[in-house]
Amino acid sequence: MTDYQNKTDESTRLLPATAESLALAASLLHRGDLVAFPTETVYGLGADALNPEAVRSIFAAKGRPADNPLIVHIHDRDQLEQLCDIPPKADLLMDAFWPGPLTILFPRKNTVPDVVTAGLPTVAIRMPSHPVAAAMLKASGLPVAAPSANLSGRPSPTTAQHVLEDMDGRIPLILDGGPCDVGLESTVVDLCHGQPVILRPGGITKEMLESALHAPVTVAGSVLRPLEPGEKALSPGMRYKHYAPKGTVTLIDGNEDSVVPALKQHCLQDLKNGRRSCVLCFSEHVSALKACNPHDMGSIHDHAEIAHRLFDILRQLDEEGMESVYSEVIPPEGVGLAVMNRLGRAAAFRIIHA
Ligand code: AMP
Ligand code: MG
Repeated sequence: MTDYQNKTDESTRLLPATAESLALAASLLHRGDLVAFPTETVYGLGADALNPEAVRSIFAAKGRPADNPLIVHIHDRDQLEQLCDIPPKADLLMDAFWPGPLTILFPRKNTVPDVVTAGLPTVAIRMPSHPVAAAMLKASGLPVAAPSANLSGRPSPTTAQHVLEDMDGRIPLILDGGPCDVGLESTVVDLCHGQPVILRPGGITKEMLESALHAPVTVAGSVLRPLEPGEKALSPGMRYKHYAPKGTVTLIDGNEDSVVPALKQHCLQDLKNGRRSCVLCFSEHVSALKACNPHDMGSIHDHAEIAHRLFDILRQLDEEGMESVYSEVIPPEGVGLAVMNRLGRAAAFRIIHA
């Protein structure tokens, strides 16, 4: 077991997924070491979920607060028996969405170390569909606890290069599987407390869950607003300043005719005052905003593409040293809810109505 606490000297290998690198990943996991791997949502930083020391080294490598629980990744439903009980209706969701970007909370068994669940009575589990994730899980045969493979506080990594930026020298291996498909973290759903609740929106939408469950699904109130003082986060990760670039992000809401001029006015004013400033806008508005360092979020009609690009753009803003950022918004429906949850947090829910 390696001590990752103050480590910056170990060289990190970035390897394409081959039979050889997958076997190396499996042996590192069995030894209690960490491996970063691609999933269809974002890159994960994995350790043997049943080895508390190995799981502790995830928190050290990321600088992650110990009260923020991890998701356990499996490749076969037979692995559930060892980890948890299965609440009514969970089968409907597993049948419909596994393997895929849906995390389900289950009542945990004692085999799951406290460090994985941050002491909560539930354990979050998902079965990823990415072929490299599935192959690594199968090769190791282990349930693998994995949060996103970024330093705590940075946007989740959606390419192997993002992982290397954050984890170089801190972990022995990154498996490169190219850019992640969804680009936002998994949907987290709680079936353990009566009516199903989405704790964190993602690529599997409320509408998709309702159609699989034949029942209404609610969305946790804190998804589209900041937590109130003293309010308990149902999804502990929501407590943290996860998605915020260093600059000030402001959202601009309104109709198409008013938003573009407002973006331009605010950004140009800041540029005039000597601030590094830019706009995040739809592809359709890039040319109208060419004086404002436009960052193309994707077409107004393609919310999945906007989700796919968002974290890469948030990382770029820091690289460019942006001090103020003005962004368009999309309706919080379908995958738009997940986009607005992340973008809203990046903006600390600062919004101007144009
Ligand atoms: P990450 O993969 O970095 O987004 O981290 C996993 C996230 O899943 C955490 O930040 C929590 O918000 C959520 N999560 C994991 N386990 C639980 C749990 N037992 N109850 C509620 N939320 C959880
Ligand atoms: Mg994370």
